[in-house]
Amino acid sequence: MKTNKKKYDVIIAGAGIVGNTLSKIFSANNLSVLLLEQGKHPRFSLGEAMLPQSAIWPFMIGEYYGIDEIKHLSNADAIIDNITPHCGIKHSIGFIHHETNERPSGDRIHQLIPPSMPFYSESHLLREDIDDYLLTVAKDAGTDYYEETSITGVEIQEDIVAVTTNKNTFYGKYYIDSSGKNSLLAKEKKYRNSVSTLTSNSRTIFTHIEGLEPIDMLINEEDHPKQNNQLHHGTLHHVFDGGWIWVIPFDNHHRSSSKLTSVGLMLDPKKFPVNDKMSAEEEFHCIIEQFPMISEHLKNGQNVRPWTRSTGNLQYSSNQSVGHRHMTTNNTYGFVGPLYSNGLINSFETVFYVSKIILNAFKNDDFSLEQFQPIEKLHKKQLQDSDLMISNAYKAMKSFKTWNAWTQLWLGQVLFHDLYLQRLCFKYFESGDKTIFENLIIDGRPGDDAPFMEKKKLMLHKVGKTLNDFEANNIDEEEASSIILKELQAQDWLPKHVFDWGNPLSRNVDFTNLELVKTLIGWGMNDAPENIKANLFDFKVPF
Ligand SMILES: Cc1cc2nc3c(=O)[nH]c(=O)nc-3n(C[C@H](O)[C@H](O)[C@H](O)COP(=O)(O)OP(=O)(O)OC[C@H]3O[C@@H](n4cnc5c(N)ncnc54)[C@H](O)[C@@H]3O)c2cc1C
Repeated sequence: MKTNKKKYDVIIAGAGIVGNTLSKIFSANNLSVLLLEQGKHPRFSLGEAMLPQSAIWPFMIGEYYGIDEIKHLSNADAIIDNITPHCGIKHSIGFIHHETNERPSGDRIHQLIPPSMPFYSESHLLREDIDDYLLTVAKDAGTDYYEETSITGVEIQEDIVAVTTNKNTFYGKYYIDSSGKNSLLAKEKKYRNSVSTLTSNSRTIFTHIEGLEPIDMLINEEDHPKQNNQLHHGTLHHVFDGGWIWVIPFDNHHRSSSKLTSVGLMLDPKKFPVNDKMSAEEEFHCIIEQFPMISEHLKNGQNVRPWTRSTGNLQYSSNQSVGHRHMTTNNTYGFVGPLYSNGLINSFETVFYVSKIILNAFKNDDFSLEQFQPIEKLHKKQLQDSDLMISNAYKAMKSFKTWNAWTQLWLGQVLFHDLYLQRLCFKYFESGDKTIFENLIIDGRPGDDAPFMEKKKLMLHKVGKTLNDFEANNIDEEEASSIILKELQAQDWLPKHVFDWGNPLSRNVDFTNLELVKTLIGWGMNDAPENIKANLFDFKVPF
């Protein structure tokens, strides 16, 4: 076994979107970085659908560190211009709720279009290209990179970390494990919880297909939301009792040269136990055949890579994230599920926390555990938040009435979390002071200190209890949805004249309508509750 005598500042395991972005930031800030990857780029990866927050974060990180290559990820055109012509656009998030053997009508469709801002736009990321680009960017900045290199041992000593691989032993001052579920460090340090601490429980079957017909072609004129964008121009979710399907097209705009769509089925194994007698593909088709519109939508798609079925449930969690001279990133710490695209939001939050804290540690030559605690708290809170929202969503999927009410709740709170980040960007535009983004590093998760959080927490507590009662058949769909809708109506931080929260007919919203945005901002600045006015709408509109 060879030994590499060089002592790196940071050794990172896993050249995914997080490992590569961190490597670039550290190298650009004059740390010596070694990045180790067991696979070989370009390689397939999931984590394709963005949301406003996962687009705003690369903008903020790119601005904060002055790195345009990271900022490109915040803009669909910049991705095409600078990275790859193979990514899709995401103008909206759509949900169609299905009952077995029924074709859903228009009142089962939600289309939520977030505000369109000049400084970011959401994409469908073909991760194969994106991760490869970020790796090149990191290498160009000075990162040493070894692929097809498996980590076989990690020894943490007082001032040094020794990382043994199938090729070499490397030394560094700090070790970051961004290798995911099968992390050797998490296993050896016994960080991984052997019994799940999470409420969520799901499995998956997925692939990339070609030849998908846009869903809008299959929806009757009178049933279509008829908003500013087609459903095909966003991420579509087919939802049913016990599961859902993501449909993420990469070919959905004229600048894309891709023919691909990512399709994946998520299942609650209590309602859909694995059928070992079928292949992954057979099981996928057997399930979608129960839903006429889904079947019609996906029947012509030809898979371009083998169907993959998760061997067990997707969830995992840890009891610890940071230790002496080492840490795990969010996706190594734990994972709940892809619903609501939290993965990339959590990833970029992690990149910002970890980069800032590690650079400070090197600047001050101080690696005391205390200063890494925000990372520990961030990961714990990210996992709790995802688990709460996703486990409740699965309970609500059981009937359209509860799903309809829950979807409004999800929209209301996510819109305000988006605004929480947008507000900081607006303040940055006004002052030019990028240190304002440092306010995002708190004890907990960015947004935990937002002025609507106390009320949101109380609402979620009550709604969570209602969905538990519904799941246990203590109350019916009528009662459960009525409680959730009444909760929404009672929230004074959700302006009813902008979107009629709590009205069962409020299913579609288009915030690219400037009048609607003006009404929201006018309400926020003049008529909102005092703390919302003072702590959320305290910005000047820069455009
Ligand atoms: C089914 C599914 C669907 C998802 N969909 C979405 C979505 O639509 N939107 C969203 O925001 N998020 C989604 N996610 C989450 C998203 O995939 C992750 O948040 C994101 O990819 C994490 O990036 P990463 O860089 O931490 O990890 P990865 O991209 O997984 O990179 C980890 C790297 O580590 C390498 N590695 C592993 N073990 C070793 C080792 N021992 N030594 C060296 N290298 C190693 C791997 O080869 C890999 O390249 C989804 C996740 C799943 C499971």
